[in-house]
Amino acid sequence: MTRQDANSAWAKDRAHVLHPYTDFSSFKDEGSQVITGAEGMYVTDSDGNRLLDAIAGLWCVNIGHGRREMADAISDQVMKMQYYNPFGHSTNEPAAELGAWLATHAPGDLNHVYYTTGGSTANDAAIRLVHYYFTMKGQHQKKKIISRNSAYHGATYVAAELTGIHATKMSFDKVGEHFINHVSAANMYAKPDDMSEDAYCDFLVQEFEDRIEQLGPDNVAAFIAEPVMGAGGVLVAPKGYHRRMWEVCKRHDMLYIADEVVTAFGRLGHWFASEEVFDYQPDILVAAKGITSGYIPLGATLISDEIYEVISRPQCEGGVFSMGLTYFGHPVACRAALTNIEIIQREGLLGHARNMGKHFQETATGLCDLEHVGDVRGHGLMLAVDLMADKTTKTPFPVTAQAGANVFRTCAELGVIVRPVGDRIVLSPPLVIEKAESNQIYSVLRQAISGLS
Ligand code: PLP
Repeated sequence: MTRQDANSAWAKDRAHVLHPYTDFSSFKDEGSQVITGAEGMYVTDSDGNRLLDAIAGLWCVNIGHGRREMADAISDQVMKMQYYNPFGHSTNEPAAELGAWLATHAPGDLNHVYYTTGGSTANDAAIRLVHYYFTMKGQHQKKKIISRNSAYHGATYVAAELTGIHATKMSFDKVGEHFINHVSAANMYAKPDDMSEDAYCDFLVQEFEDRIEQLGPDNVAAFIAEPVMGAGGVLVAPKGYHRRMWEVCKRHDMLYIADEVVTAFGRLGHWFASEEVFDYQPDILVAAKGITSGYIPLGATLISDEIYEVISRPQCEGGVFSMGLTYFGHPVACRAALTNIEIIQREGLLGHARNMGKHFQETATGLCDLEHVGDVRGHGLMLAVDLMADKTTKTPFPVTAQAGANVFRTCAELGVIVRPVGDRIVLSPPLVIEKAESNQIYSVLRQAISGLS
């Protein structure tokens, strides 16, 4: 069946499906690439092309594609008990088991979990929990949230407001304007060349302190940050940054929310990055994506004992934590998460990701000699390459040059899927990547970037 055939998946999709982050005007002509198969590090499309997946689907397929063990666990759970109402006083075994596992392995005393359907809803839950917590403490005015420019926290309305990427907000009303604020991203590439890393960190921390003072510490409830900013450009903060921002939060009785939707479950070589990599213990931690390696949607918002103690107090007016999701603690999703965790453990994928992460980052630096590579940076198995028209003056390509899109297309023709975010190429391969695949990704990327004029 050809693409143009009205019965092809391509034609049906093009006619009826609204894709995320898609310009509907050009979509009408191009449609989507239909992915029909996936195994290990590779996916296959409906034209028969086999492509190396250098982005793990979308930062999520940590254990690789097409695992029989995941299919068996999911099918077994469906036959055993596929769903039941999770509200109030019923639960299921996988949700309880996963809750206990998370409590044991998450940083500090994050011993309580609220399950959601993905990262955006988990961030929404985090904000609801922050507001509920301060209301229960009688601090009704302490509700403002500070986020960062370039942050990505999701696509539901509140998560999109937390996000600091302008393009995600264009043509939408600002529903969270009155309570969400943004400070600078920790962007080492954008810092003035004559400023040291320490001085830059001082600047960011001072800006944060100043913003809290300006808003009034009694009004500011929480700070939200990704340990390494993902979609905003794989921005690795200056040394000590997170710890110092966390200390500021503690001084002002604010909660620190770590959005670990991308960084948890092995991408930086640890179950969770905030404590093990960056030395701070968030009050709330948000996970999704790698928690099931993308086999089934699931998000999790973990909270500390202190928050739990406060929100467990009886409410005078009989209120309850009313965020009610039908698919809270979905048994099939939680079972998938438990099996995913077993696989990561049994196959030593955290250690493998640490070792491969080093190789991945070291090989990437080889791209720096290319005329149009302005910066290469990352951590573990997260990496970004900034494409520049003139790297000495940090001059970007004109939008019409479509540099990122062109590199993406050439890489795909050469058999590798990378992710263009504007003129930045983002990589986040499955944790099961081996050296040969890493080398293939960079050799293809080198060829594609060399072709830019
Ligand atoms: N937070 C971060 C850091 C993310 O990267 C993403 C998605 O890419 C989200 C939240 C939103 O997750 P989801 O797309 O599962 O709603």
